[in-house]
Amino acid sequence: MVMAPSAIAIDHQETTVLNDNKVDYLDNNHGVESDVTGFASKALIKKVLHEHIARVNVDTCEPGEEDAFYVADLGEVYRQHLRWKINLARVKPFYAVKCNPDTEVLRLLAKLGTGFDCASRAEIDMVLGLGVAPSRIIYAQPCKTKSYLRHARKVGVTLMTFDNSDELRKIKDCYPEAELVLRILTDDSTSLCRLSAKYGASLHDAKDLLRLAKDLELNIVGVSFHVGSGASDPNSFGKAVMDARFVFDQAAELGYDLKLLDVGGGFVDETFEMFAGNLHEALEEHFPSHVRVIGEPGRYYTSNAFTLATNVIARREVAGDNEGENAYMLYLNDGVYGNFSNIIFDHQHPIPQILSAAAAADEMVEYSIWGPTCDGIDVITDQIYLPGVINIGDWLFFENMGAYTKCSATKFNGYNDDHEVVYISSEPGASALLGY
Ligand SMILES: *Cc1c(COP(=O)(O)O)cnc(C)c1O
Repeated sequence: MVMAPSAIAIDHQETTVLNDNKVDYLDNNHGVESDVTGFASKALIKKVLHEHIARVNVDTCEPGEEDAFYVADLGEVYRQHLRWKINLARVKPFYAVKCNPDTEVLRLLAKLGTGFDCASRAEIDMVLGLGVAPSRIIYAQPCKTKSYLRHARKVGVTLMTFDNSDELRKIKDCYPEAELVLRILTDDSTSLCRLSAKYGASLHDAKDLLRLAKDLELNIVGVSFHVGSGASDPNSFGKAVMDARFVFDQAAELGYDLKLLDVGGGFVDETFEMFAGNLHEALEEHFPSHVRVIGEPGRYYTSNAFTLATNVIARREVAGDNEGENAYMLYLNDGVYGNFSNIIFDHQHPIPQILSAAAAADEMVEYSIWGPTCDGIDVITDQIYLPGVINIGDWLFFENMGAYTKCSATKFNGYNDDHEVVYISSEPGASALLGY
């Protein structure tokens, strides 16, 4: 469902829900770095969440009307794009579709002119279906399905990664004119989501692979890496860039003139400026300006843009941690088999906040928060203190739910894996591009 943004204009009174005395009114400041815009976005999201839940009465509604739902602020995606441009002007983003293949997100990014990192036939077709030229796609899956390779050739997606000799022979067989990017290993020992056990050629193997590619008369155009997601070492990009430089030089010895460096994904909102600064310096130092640089950010673009609202469907009173005090187990209508799949697959810890509670109060109460399926693994929060006693029918919401959530949800136990998204835009630029 696309909601007309004109119907949800921000009025000044509404912003008092933020309880933040730094913001006592909102002006029309749409600057990228403006806190005011961020606050306006939060106020707008809250307003839309409340409008939606006001239409649901759990005592009379049809099954599913109380389902969890998202509010997606595409203005946030737009702001992240500008922030990328400011910090990494040299690096063209190829959005990693797997992280959130939402059609409105893809449509906005297509209009903003990004490229796309696709890893399967369906992702390639989804992006091409938006009218994006095949030259704006990198097939960034080092171990590809043969029939998908033939499909990529048919639709004209030429740029792709590889990291082993069997893949080179496969490509020779199915798509000899493809433009190949050698994915190398990185030291991802400080990352939350590590990838190097599965993908990437070691620097030691790189030379043999380049030699084999030469023998097979394949077209190597560049080098890629992925430092893993949630890296804690700010120099992880710097080290990977130096390794890529080493492979560029090895390739030159074999007569290849590489022209593309792909710095992968793993950029995180909170630490973006620090990691981008480190990457920018390393690029300036090791790669002359004629080398084209692309990146594959996923979560960076979408995690903040999606807020999830869930309904409390059941409750159990138990003994609390503090002697003499009760605690509650709350059961929500969404869990780790649904949109909270990011807890299992992406090592995230979503934070519950109260959206609406009939018995609002100040004193803190202890809770554990569970999903709806019959599996004991389906727990969202082991322990948290929230103000007041939350009842069945109340709503909780979770911010930063835009990456590796909906796309990896299942239908386990008969629950929905396709929750409604209410789209809004807190940025006139994004609204204009999307026609909102
Ligand atoms: C998953 C993935 C990405 C995106 O990772 P984020 O952490 O979402 O930025 C980029 N490139 C490749 C090859 C990936 O597998």
